Amino acid sequence: PVDRLAEIQEARLKLPVLAEEHVIMEAVRENPCVVLCGETGSGKTTQVPQFLYEAGYASGIIGVTEPRRVAAVSMSHRVATEMNLPTGVVSYQIRYEGNVTDGTKIKFMTDGVLLKEIQKDFLLQRYSVVIIDEAHERSVYTDILIGLLSRIVPLRNKRAMPMKLVIMSATLRVEDFTQNQRLFPAPPPVVKVDARQFPVTVHFNKRTAMEDYTGEAFRKTCKIHRMLPSGGILVFLTGQAEVHSLCRRLRRAFPYKPNRECTGEPNTHTHTPGIPSKCPALPRIDLDNYSALPVEEGDEGDDEEEEDGDEVSDLDLGDNPDDYGGDCPCNYWQGVWIRTSGKCCKCVCCQVFRPAPAGTRLCVVATNVAETSLTIPGVRYVVDCGRVKKRFYDRVTGVSSFKVTWTSQASANQRAGRAGRTEPGHCYRLYSSAVFSDFSLFSEAEITRRPVDDLVLQMKDLNIQKVVNFPFPTPPSSEALAAAEQLLVSLGALEEPPREGRVIDLKRARLSCPITPLGRAMAAFPVSPRYAKMLALGQQQDCMPYVIAVVAAMTVREIFDDLDRPVAKDEDGEKVGQRRARLAQNKRLWAGQGQSLLLGDLMVMLGAVGACEFAGCTPKFCEENGLRYKAMLEIRRLRGQLTNAVNAVCPDVGVFVDGKMPPPTPTQVQCLRQVVLSGLGDHLARRVQSEELLDPKWRNGYKTPLLDEPVFIHPSSALFKTLPEFVVYQEVTETTKMYMRGVCAVEADWIP
Ligand code: ADP
Ligand code: MG
Repeated sequence: PVDRLAEIQEARLKLPVLAEEHVIMEAVRENPCVVLCGETGSGKTTQVPQFLYEAGYASGIIGVTEPRRVAAVSMSHRVATEMNLPTGVVSYQIRYEGNVTDGTKIKFMTDGVLLKEIQKDFLLQRYSVVIIDEAHERSVYTDILIGLLSRIVPLRNKRAMPMKLVIMSATLRVEDFTQNQRLFPAPPPVVKVDARQFPVTVHFNKRTAMEDYTGEAFRKTCKIHRMLPSGGILVFLTGQAEVHSLCRRLRRAFPYKPNRECTGEPNTHTHTPGIPSKCPALPRIDLDNYSALPVEEGDEGDDEEEEDGDEVSDLDLGDNPDDYGGDCPCNYWQGVWIRTSGKCCKCVCCQVFRPAPAGTRLCVVATNVAETSLTIPGVRYVVDCGRVKKRFYDRVTGVSSFKVTWTSQASANQRAGRAGRTEPGHCYRLYSSAVFSDFSLFSEAEITRRPVDDLVLQMKDLNIQKVVNFPFPTPPSSEALAAAEQLLVSLGALEEPPREGRVIDLKRARLSCPITPLGRAMAAFPVSPRYAKMLALGQQQDCMPYVIAVVAAMTVREIFDDLDRPVAKDEDGEKVGQRRARLAQNKRLWAGQGQSLLLGDLMVMLGAVGACEFAGCTPKFCEENGLRYKAMLEIRRLRGQLTNAVNAVCPDVGVFVDGKMPPPTPTQVQCLRQVVLSGLGDHLARRVQSEELLDPKWRNGYKTPLLDEPVFIHPSSALFKTLPEFVVYQEVTETTKMYMRGVCAVEADWIP
């Protein structure tokens, strides 16, 4: 029996899923797998685990997977609170941390965490139920988990250890799961929860905000706040830096005056839906008609956004990328309370679930985290920039970049829906209806848009030899699968296919190469295969601690404070200048001399990690030395995690994280360069020879096997002055030119 507080119980009863508890639980009882669809905010994530718990499914663990770390953490806290149970019973596990105990009954985790657990115990014997949440997001690991669980559940039932699977989606678009014979031969039942959704009036801009959509979001938010009756505002932007920048501007526009009576006591005026609230007695006006309103002072001139590349981190298998910055979820959503009369504004960060204090209005600025995974109460106005930040890969060249693109119609409608949860609302789209009608209807499943080498390796490790036959909800293209298999063969993770035979056989063989012992070792590391290969070879010359540090640094994005970023308005230009000069000087220092120099950018990273750890990895050290504190913390965590993984795979190495790591010796540097080459062998570039200099623009360029155009070493690279004949690089990104990032010199006679 669960002993809930009266107020919690009362709030629960208002949730649409509560009305369907019996239908849901009966479907679960009668079927091994059930699909549950319900609007965001209907109570799926917080209530379904409780239903299962109360219906006696807590003999094993009730597992819930989330595509985002933020959601796993915050939902576990919420459910623990609702059930009045300690966090040792309702727990969470994300990549680096968790509070799971032997007594855990409900466990929220990222999908990547459950995937790793399947590798240890294919039947997931400790679980009685697995809930796949946010399945509509179609994240890669969610898709793979559904494929795996479609096999695990029948196996468990056959062995008289029954297990249930619940797939939860915020949209009704679930045919890829239900109408997919290979996945579920007998289509699972779909339970729909009718959510009380209030009408949302959608207002399109007449003109689309093309460049300055953050500025436009700011103006719109201010207007809503000044003109419209009470109710929270939720603003959708694309990235962390934009979220911070808009909050900063709002705080500047409505400064917080602590001596005024803004004490934070709960909002006492209750607002009845339908009845205009008494709060600001301002006339309603047409928000789309800008010209009627004077432009705020200081509106133009924009805080340049820094590239927040850490939003989606590298492919790694521990977990899912994006948004849990490690320390505080509010990096991806931030709230401000705006005073409705007078001027007052206060950052509320993680307190968005609290009612806004009297006389203030809650305004939350978020990335698409708030689209479906978190419901912020009391939102009545949505401001939608219509964009989303995504990582794009070029299939042929492997060049990747973060791009802000238009979202889909389905996502835009989800965003609008956030305004109509508790009463009729309004959604202000910062783009025209013509632009909207050009949006794609739905977002593509992530698996079709990214390389799959890491997934193929994980599957092979699960003894799924013919990956093409795996029951993907949406299969990746056969070219992507073939490219992955080829890369893994070249890394030595998979056996070479037999050379003889007709071409067609060879092609088929390529897609079912068995895993090698090296491949198994690589699969145990929570990084993508190239880096796993480096770790697997890191034992020579006592290099392992260096390899771990370098791999950790290479897989965390943007460790340096970007030198090219213009100085933001509210920054002290002189200070920024000093910091940059210091970073440039540090980079030269960290690059070392002689042999070390040839390790190039990776030596700089190694030096930065070493220096930062030596200083205790403090925000102050990072700030003063041009390092991004968040990135350095992530590297620290990853070093710990990789060190544990290495010790688990090869116990005789006995590595530990050394906070006072001495610089590598020349022999070790040589060894490190070879180890790096072993993982990046297909990212080889050769300096353009004088006889190949067809175009003066090719001077100092490098040729790669994949690109027609030359690529270059960036002026900020440690090897910019050296220009070695052969280099390997981590990736090519296109800015003003095609630049290689993470460059390391290699010797001609090492190249296979
Ligand atoms: P769904 O998963 O269907 O989108 P949820 O179970 O996440 O719905 O949310 C149900 C309700 O619980 C929402 O009204 C939401 O605002 C509320 N809620 C979620 N987390 C918290 C929290 N930490 N504090 C207060 N209310 C919360
Ligand atoms: Mg949910």
